Formats: sequence, structure tokens, C-alpha cells
Amino acid sequence: MFVLEYKVKPKPYQVEAIDEAIRTTQFVRNKVLRYWMDNRGVGKAELFRYNTRLRKEFKFVEELNSHACQTAVERTLRAITRFYENCKNQVKGKKRCDPAPSHGARERAPREGYPQFKRNTRSVEYKVSGWKLSEDRKHIVFTDKKGIGHLRLIGSRDLNYYHPEQIKRVRILRRADGYYVQFCIKLDPRLTVSKPLTPSQKSVGIDVGLKYFLADSQGNVEPIPQYYRKAEKRLKRLNRQKSKKFRKGKPQSRNYQKARQRYARQHLRVSRQREENAKRVALRLIQSNDLVAYEDLNVAGLVKNRHLSKSISDAGWTLFRRWLEYFADKYGKIAIAVPPHNTSQNCSSCGEKVQKSLSTRTHICPHCGFVADRDTNAAINILKLGLSRVGRTRIHASGEIPSWLAGEILSANGDS
Ligand SMILES: [Zn+2]
Repeated sequence: MFVLEYKVKPKPYQVEAIDEAIRTTQFVRNKVLRYWMDNRGVGKAELFRYNTRLRKEFKFVEELNSHACQTAVERTLRAITRFYENCKNQVKGKKRCDPAPSHGARERAPREGYPQFKRNTRSVEYKVSGWKLSEDRKHIVFTDKKGIGHLRLIGSRDLNYYHPEQIKRVRILRRADGYYVQFCIKLDPRLTVSKPLTPSQKSVGIDVGLKYFLADSQGNVEPIPQYYRKAEKRLKRLNRQKSKKFRKGKPQSRNYQKARQRYARQHLRVSRQREENAKRVALRLIQSNDLVAYEDLNVAGLVKNRHLSKSISDAGWTLFRRWLEYFADKYGKIAIAVPPHNTSQNCSSCGEKVQKSLSTRTHICPHCGFVADRDTNAAINILKLGLSRVGRTRIHASGEIPSWLAGEILSANGDS
């Protein structure tokens, strides 16, 4: 699945209709969650039946496309499943259920805790019904009874490139700078006509670090983008201004609303820059290599460590990985995640363990004399692990494994 996004400029009455549709999904989501809390042990089917009851009971729920209501139930189900899984895996998190957290706490509330009521839903998601694309696919009409109606899609990406049946979801989003429509498209290599890239005869391992955005097994490094540090200062200032204008327990002033919007817009800018960077680096790697191996990091776990969290979430590692897998699919290359296991400690030349602390930047092997940058050494280990796992795990690839690579894979398997 990947996402195509367009800006839309709804008229005031359409803004009202979209906001109303978003409020309705939030209502359904929270109602279903409440029902689950009051009737612990009810299953999926029962929650969907409850949704049907809500549609009969409330006219405004009935007005929203039935599949859009279903996705709201699915959102609740995902939160519930995640909660159960985390309990099973004993992930620590908030186990309380407070529908009204104090000011500012919402952003920081961990996702691992008890399912929360939503107060700030910003999107409504349709499936394959309730909307229709125009002949030239530059306009969309929402056909349910919420009255959103006709919207022109503003953006350079061409929807004609895809078959309509590839569009599995349509989402309307509210952001700080306006409204957007997203199309979730299911990639099918047989339907997607992408230019296959010529084989590069290269494979690469990459290591994400705190010092670099990533280091690769060929000795190259990609620096951490500087924009964020600069933008961050501005973001902090805007956040301070916003907090200063916040009035506890009173209706908020116009100045507060303005400060809040300035802050939100800056946030949006930063996240777009981050996305661009992730996309650029991922595309470059896929274009110049046939196989990219990377560590299967538990980013959520790492982000909990406050020292690491800043760098990792800033750098947008999760985003990067998503783009890497997307481009691998698209261009018939291989992207493979390997379990992180002593990749920074082991010597990539002889395999012996060479203990080093986080501050040791250079790998010097007392056993075989191999010297390399710490992260390059790790990246080589990751590549080796990747090569040894091709064919044994699910990988992101749509093409055939090129013959030269097959040789490398065989020797990597022989080594391990
Ligand atoms: Zn060695």
C-alpha cells in the first residue's frame, strides 16, 4: 500500500460537511470503545453489530457512508488489539483511562497504554464506496449524505497511472494549513508500470546511528539533516508563545488560537522536510544497489529511551524505512530487514566479538587487525546478515534475484 495525496480547497459549506464527517467517525470510534469498556470480552462481530445499532439510533451516523463508519470501528479494534498484544508482551505504558488528559499531555501519552478516547480526530476514511472519481480523475465527489460533494484534486501526481480498483481507501484529512485527500493504493507489480532499473551489481548494508543519519557498508555516510536543528529552535519558540497565551479553565483568546496555528504550521513544515529527506535517501540507495539490508529496529522501544529518542524520531527512521520498502517494491530491488544482534560489536572481517562502548567511534579488531569506522563495520555485518537471510525470510522484492547476487548469497550462506 502506498499513499497519493492531493490538496483540496473546500468551500465553507464543504468545510462544515467534512468537519461533521470527521466528528462522526470520532463519535463512532469513542462510542464503540465505551461499549467495549462496559462489556469486556465482547468480540469483533458484536462491536460491528453495535455500530449498526448506532446507525439506526443516530441520524448523523446514518448519514456517513457505512464503510466509513466501519473504518471507525476498525480503528477502535486496532487500539484494542494493540492493547492486548502489549499486555501479552508486557510492554510498559499507561494503564489508565482518562478521557480528558491535562493540557499538553495528550501529545506525550504513550500509545502502548489502555485504549484512549479521541478528542482530536483529524481524518475520515472511506473504503471503496461513498465517493466517485471524475472521468479525468482530477475531481472527486463524495456521495454519502454528509453533503461534502465535489472537490478538485490539486497536485502533480497523476491518478490515471493506477487502476481504480487499486484504490482501497480514500481519506480526507484536516491539517494546520488546510484539507487534503489521500488515496491508499495497493501496489500490484503486474498492474504498475514502473521502469525497471538496470542492475547495479551492488548490495549494501546500512546502519542508522546517532552520529549520522546512516552509514553504509561501502564507507559512505549520510549526515543527519541540519534543517531540523534550525527548525527546532523556531518550533520551541512558537511553543513557548503558545503556552504563554494559554488560559487554564477559560475559553481561549484569539491570540492563543493564532499562536496555536503558527505552531502547527511550523510542525507541518518540519514533518514535510523530514519526509522529503527520507524519500531522497531511500531512492538513492535503491537506485544504486540491488539489495539493501538494514536493521529491524524496534523504533518504539528506542524512542522511549529519552537520550536516543530525539535523534531517532527527528531523523525519521521509520519514514525512511517505509520509503525504502516502497522503492524496492517499485523497482524490483530487494530490501531486507535483519534482526539487530551484535552488529556493532562483532568484527565484520573475522566475526570475533570486539566490545566497545557507545563513545568508541572506531572499530579496531585485536584478532585480525581490521580497522573501520564503527558504523561502517556495523553496516558490513548487517549486509552479511542480509545476504545470509535472503530466500529464508519474507523480503520486499518483486523482481527475480539477479544471478550475480545469487552467487553472493550462496557464499554468505556458506560462511554462516
Ligand atoms: Zn577481526
